[in-house]
Amino acid sequence: MQLQNIKLWIMAALVTVSPFIHAQSPDTSISLQETRHILSYLAADELKGRGNGRPELLTAARYIGSYFKEIGLSAYGNEASVYIPFQPFGGSNLALRDILMYNGRVVPASEYAFFNVIPGWYPVKELADFTVIQHEGAFTPGILETYKNTEKPLIIWTDQLTPDKKKLPKQFDIPKEGLRNNIILVYATAAPTSIKLTANAKVYSMLQYNVVGMLKGSTRPDEFIILSAHYDHEGVYKTRRKRDSIMNGANDNASGTTALLQLAKHFAQQQNNERTILFCAFSGEELGLLGSEDFSRQVDAEKVIALFNLEMLGVPQLGKQKVFITGQEYSSLPAILSAALKENGLTVIAEPDIEKRLFQRSDNFPFAQKGIPAHTIMASDDDDKCYHEPCDDIKRIDFDNLNHIIKALSKAIQPFTTANADPGRITRPVE
Ligand SMILES: [Zn+2]
Repeated sequence: MQLQNIKLWIMAALVTVSPFIHAQSPDTSISLQETRHILSYLAADELKGRGNGRPELLTAARYIGSYFKEIGLSAYGNEASVYIPFQPFGGSNLALRDILMYNGRVVPASEYAFFNVIPGWYPVKELADFTVIQHEGAFTPGILETYKNTEKPLIIWTDQLTPDKKKLPKQFDIPKEGLRNNIILVYATAAPTSIKLTANAKVYSMLQYNVVGMLKGSTRPDEFIILSAHYDHEGVYKTRRKRDSIMNGANDNASGTTALLQLAKHFAQQQNNERTILFCAFSGEELGLLGSEDFSRQVDAEKVIALFNLEMLGVPQLGKQKVFITGQEYSSLPAILSAALKENGLTVIAEPDIEKRLFQRSDNFPFAQKGIPAHTIMASDDDDKCYHEPCDDIKRIDFDNLNHIIKALSKAIQPFTTANADPGRITRPVE
C-alpha cells in the first residue's frame, strides 16, 4: 500500500514540474485535495451535523451555492437564484410576506418587489445593510439584468411611473443565470433615510432550500440529466449524554455532496454536454425525501432522461472500488451505468439486500415514481456501524477511494450527457 502511494506522489510531482507534457488534457477537476477539502468542510463540527431547521444547514447551502456560481452554473428555469426554497411543513405563501418600512411608512405590496436569494439572510435588515441606488426612469421588466451581479444587497428606488402609470411593471424577468444578491425595488418619492425590512421569522426558520445549478446543453438543451445528493443530515442529538453528540454525517451524505460538487466542476470545465445537466443538492432528505419530492414537481418528467443520485460513497463498506446501484430491476440505467463504471475501474456489485428498499429510501425515488430512470449509487448502506451515529465523521472516510469513485462516475455519466446513452423509462410500477 505504501509503495503505491509513493508512486502516486512521484507521478504528481512530475506533472507539477513539467506542466507542458500533458498540455493536451487540461482536466484538473476531481483532485484528491479538493475532495478532502470539500468533505472536511461539510462534515466539520462547525456545521453541527447540517440538521434540518438549523442555521448551519443554511451555511452549508450557501457554501454549495457559492461553489456552483464560482464554477459558472446558472439558475434553473425561472428561479431567481440557485437556492430554491420550499416549505417542508406546508403553509401559505402569504405567510411569507415581508414587511418593508420605508422612511417610517409601511410600503404596500404594489409598490415594492423583494428578490430574496440568500438563504438565512433574515429576519430584520436596516438601511446600513444595503447599497442604495436611485434608478433613472421607471422600472422595466428587464431591470434586474443590470444589477444581477451585485456583491452587496441593493435597495433601488425610483419616483417614475411606468408608461401605463403603474408603480411597478406587471412582472420582472429573472436573468437566466439568476441574481447574485438580494435586491429590493421600491417606488418612492424620496431617497431612503431609514428602512426596516422584517420577515415572518418563524416561517423563514422553517424554510428549506434545495440548491440547484444548471449547465445548459449545447445541442439538446431541452433534455435533462440530473445529478443529485442530499446535503442535510441529523444535526445534534440533544438528549443523549455522549461526549460526541454531533452527527457529522461525513459519509451520509457529505460524501455524496462532495461528489456532486466535483462532478459539477468537471462537467463545467469539459463544456461538452449536449444535454442540460442539473446539479441538485437536496435538503429535507432525512425528514423523508422532502426536498427531492418538492423539486420533482418542478421538472417535466418527460424531459428528464436520467437521474443519478449519490449517497454514502465515503466508506468502502463492501470493499475498495466497489459500488452498487439501487433498483436495478426498475430500468436499464443500472446495467448501462454498471458497464461504463466497470470500464473505468470500479466493481459494481448487486444491491446487497433488496429487502432494505434502498431504492425507495433516497432522493431518486420521487423521480422514479414519475417514470424517470432514477437510481442511487452507493458504496455503503445502513449496515455500516456508524450509520446515523455520531461516529460517522471524516476519520472514517477513505478519500483515495472516494476520489476514484468520483472519477469513474465522471467518465461513466459522460455518454448520458452527450446523448450517446439512453436508458429509456422506468419499466415496472414503482411503489
Ligand atoms: Zn441518512
